[in-house]
Amino acid sequence: MAGIYVHIPFCRQACHYCDFHFSTYHKLIRPVLEAIGRELHLRQDYLQGAAVETIYFGGGTPSLLNPEDLQVLLDQIYEIFPVPGSCEITLESNPDDLNKKKVRALRSMGINRLSIGAQTFHDEYLTYLNRVHTAEDIKRSFFNARECGFDNINLDLIYAIRENYTDMLKKDLVEIGNLRPEHISAYCLTIEPVTVFGRWLDKSKIPPVPDHEAAEQFEIISEHLGLLQYDHYEISNFALPGYFSRHNTNYWMENVYLGIGPSAHSYNLKQRQHNLDNNSRYIKSLTMGNIPATIEYLSIPNRINERILTGLRTSRGCDLNGIRKDFGVDILGKNGDYIQELADKEMVILTDGIMKLNRKGMLFADRIASDLFVSEGEI
Ligand code: SF4
Repeated sequence: MAGIYVHIPFCRQACHYCDFHFSTYHKLIRPVLEAIGRELHLRQDYLQGAAVETIYFGGGTPSLLNPEDLQVLLDQIYEIFPVPGSCEITLESNPDDLNKKKVRALRSMGINRLSIGAQTFHDEYLTYLNRVHTAEDIKRSFFNARECGFDNINLDLIYAIRENYTDMLKKDLVEIGNLRPEHISAYCLTIEPVTVFGRWLDKSKIPPVPDHEAAEQFEIISEHLGLLQYDHYEISNFALPGYFSRHNTNYWMENVYLGIGPSAHSYNLKQRQHNLDNNSRYIKSLTMGNIPATIEYLSIPNRINERILTGLRTSRGCDLNGIRKDFGVDILGKNGDYIQELADKEMVILTDGIMKLNRKGMLFADRIASDLFVSEGEI
């Protein structure tokens, strides 16, 4: 199973928290799309003929493109790679882009999963985040999508936006429950240094959100969505039965994927490739016929540590027996006392060599994973 990710690096305006690669300079849209087409051709052997089960347009804001341009990209993919009819094709979108005409065009070109960046249903907080849209836009776009035949919709939600956000979050969850999308991604606002919020925090213009508030909100989300029958299948992701994101699951299962566009990553079991995150240089490199990527060869400890990190983040858990079988490293034997201590604190569950985090443990997932990591000199 293989996936293709296409990064569309343009947005209408910069959200104050965002450190993804994007530009608000739209004159480069056309040359970037042409360069993406070139990259697709140059990378035609990367997946070695594997069927492409998922295609994901991310960004940036792919919904900012007109449907004709998206159709050209899809046609190029169909022409170069084997894509079965069952392929999950996701488009990330912002509510202000999703008028009925556009949504209908997206659906009729074969996009079958829509991810809508809702973030919050409170206009004052949307303004604070510097989002372009309103709460009303979220509902309108959602109903437009439903009316035009999208039966697999994700809503993105952000929590811990400011201090004392818990009551706001509870109202967001009521709104989400009313809409009942098939999938919800809920992210804690993290303040990155090279963002507007990062600068504000640095100058003490905004206070940090206390950890205990963020933790409380995470637990509220997990519990509330659980009551609504959503499966908490990855730390930040919830799905109704049968609606896991196949694309993201592909990443977590260590399957191969090809990332196209500025800043996109690719993975083929042995190495990761990182495309450069500069639109002009990306265009220039592809105009000269060169793929603008750096290659990182993955060592055995790299691969084990990724498996620990991604496994612990999912409800599948981390298969410690599998790590021992594939790499000869006994994580359980090396960390038996520590894992037992976590189990006594009701943070992990260990069954038949599969280690899973429960809700309390998920709050410390990164820390627990790094405590189990294997170092380069160790094997
Ligand atoms: S729309 Fe998305 S990618 Fe663009 S700035 Fe906002 S969060 Fe970042």
